[in-house]
Amino acid sequence: MPALPEYLTRTLLGNFGVPVVDGYFVMTGDDLPVELPELPIFLKAQIPGATSRKKHGLVRKVETISEFHSNLDELLSPGDWGQADGVLLAKGLNLKAEYYAGCMLDFGSQKQLPGGILLFSTEGGSGVEGRSGTLVKIPFSLLTPIDAEGIAEELAVIDTLKNPEIIAAFLKGLISTFVGYRLTVLEVNPIGVLSDGSLTAVDCRAEFEKAAVKKTEKDLFFPPGLKSSTDLTQLEQTVELINIADPAGTGFFRQNRETPPDKALRVATNLCGGGGKMLWEMTTGLRTDIYTMNESDTSGGLSAFKSYRILRTIFAQKGAQVLLLTGSGMAFQNQHHLAAAVWKALRETPTPLPTLLRFGGTDEDKARELFERISADLPVPVKTYPAEIFPNVMVDDIEAIAMQNPPHVQPPSSPEGEPVIRVEVPPGDIYFYPDKWKSDEEPPSFSACPTGYLLWNNGELQINPEAKCIGCLMCETASLLEGNGEIRIHLEMPAEVD
Ligand code: SF4
Repeated sequence: MPALPEYLTRTLLGNFGVPVVDGYFVMTGDDLPVELPELPIFLKAQIPGATSRKKHGLVRKVETISEFHSNLDELLSPGDWGQADGVLLAKGLNLKAEYYAGCMLDFGSQKQLPGGILLFSTEGGSGVEGRSGTLVKIPFSLLTPIDAEGIAEELAVIDTLKNPEIIAAFLKGLISTFVGYRLTVLEVNPIGVLSDGSLTAVDCRAEFEKAAVKKTEKDLFFPPGLKSSTDLTQLEQTVELINIADPAGTGFFRQNRETPPDKALRVATNLCGGGGKMLWEMTTGLRTDIYTMNESDTSGGLSAFKSYRILRTIFAQKGAQVLLLTGSGMAFQNQHHLAAAVWKALRETPTPLPTLLRFGGTDEDKARELFERISADLPVPVKTYPAEIFPNVMVDDIEAIAMQNPPHVQPPSSPEGEPVIRVEVPPGDIYFYPDKWKSDEEPPSFSACPTGYLLWNNGELQINPEAKCIGCLMCETASLLEGNGEIRIHLEMPAEVD
């Protein structure tokens, strides 16, 4: 899902009456304001999708005019981080305390309608490691969102909280912004508590779905005249091509341009949805012992074919020591299909990584069961976690599972012969080997097809013209686990990844 940087998110919050710290946005290439805010001020580079900006030197406090100009020039020029949209000049504040708040979308399940979740913690700012223990989760309806009074009642579980009504009113504004602009993620971190007890949004960011942006709001989300960089790495270009060929669902991938700190663990990530990104950020925060190789987001009901291709790209990153995959725990994508994609990527990549997997959503139990069956035969260790586990437990396990030099293996050869089906979208080739299934009974690979696209006709494969292939990989998975390898799927990858 596209990310909205702070300077744009501030406008959305302001439109719903949420107080934000005074600031002025300087777009790259623009003139400076005639009157500068009073020093000291903070210069904050505005880069869509960037997190942990303070850690990466993208937020700087300046005390003098010469510091101001030199730092501003540097942040407006292309750097390790790419090209910023511009720099936000924000007033420095004396804060009594810092809180954290976020809203995210809960895609729901067969038993529960979609809705929103409000997160609040009295542990705000950059020192976030301990936040998971103080986090309050408040589910709310998108049609009739919870009011300030209801939020205040929920906050009563934090017995140290002073002025819960003031906080509840602020959080209500947050929910109104989230629902009003149909966002998928909205985060304010920190919420600053001023000396008079009032609150202000000091830093914020959002994520959204392009299709949910109204015509009248286009300029708020896609401001005209931006000069931000399009200098994509080779692997990022690969993901662009994957998205063009298979546009359904989100497939976002951006590599870290910085140099990993010495001895930091280099973690490749597959984060599912804005919730997954938020949890990763919350659990790694300012940790310098963990270097995130890439940002990623696979969500919104993408096919397993697409998940596989993006995973193969993530595995192809040089220097990665481990892969961590997690969502918010409520994914829209069927988790068994996702697990099939992870398994296929692990057995077909020449550069598999030790892997930590947290499945959450429909068929999450089947996803974990799949890995219980096949983990022993993989060239790298794999550990799975249930959705109830907060990702900080996974983060704690990274060091134990990471390999300094993960193996380089010879992947299996592509299926032989000609495919019997070439699926156009999502693109993939299906091979059928009748010699491998002599029985008259329908093989498990056919009965596993959830759409009924594959039909068994006396030992022959037929396509049901009424059905569609959704690229779920269930046929191949069942063929390898329950059958004799009679169905194979080949998913073409760009040469850069192989
Ligand atoms: S043929 Fe059926 S089981 Fe196989 S990928 Fe397509 S939809 Fe899934």
